[in-house]
Amino acid sequence: MAGVTTLNLRTIKLRSGEQFRDGREIRLEPLELGGQRYLPVPELVTADLAITRASTGTVFELGFRVRLHGPCYRCLEDAVLEVPIAAREYEATNPGDSDELRTPYLEDERLDLSAWARDALALELPDKILCRPDCAGLCPVCGRDLNREPHDHGEPEPDTRWSALASLRDQL
Ligand SMILES: [Zn+2]
Ligand SMILES: [Zn+2]
Repeated sequence: MAGVTTLNLRTIKLRSGEQFRDGREIRLEPLELGGQRYLPVPELVTADLAITRASTGTVFELGFRVRLHGPCYRCLEDAVLEVPIAAREYEATNPGDSDELRTPYLEDERLDLSAWARDALALELPDKILCRPDCAGLCPVCGRDLNREPHDHGEPEPDTRWSALASLRDQL
């Protein structure tokens, strides 16, 4: 698949107690959140990858920073979210049948950095992406942006049946 960054661990010969560190470029895909699309900027991040080998297993660490651009959940204006990522995975030398002792991103000695980075980013996202924490959003009555035009519509409109009755009374 094009654009997927993997690392072949066979090319890295680590003995117990040794560590491999490298900067790896990883292409990030747009994310869906609350029905909206958020674009990672830059698309290509340089992540710090560290692989530490122990006799019982291998620890994988991935760190990078990314900015997400997309619509504010409340007002739909552009919002930018800065997301620092520090992810960690573990694969035991002899994991047996236990899923907890293996990482889902390692298959046949290939580490899928793209999938890992995508999931790590998704885990760090808040429920809602806002243009600013106190965004006032859109007016529920008229739909205008309350950040730019703060207003309220006062008391609810008087019941039209009463005004109809009032105009009837005026005619009498
Ligand atoms: Zn907003
Ligand atoms: Zn309004």
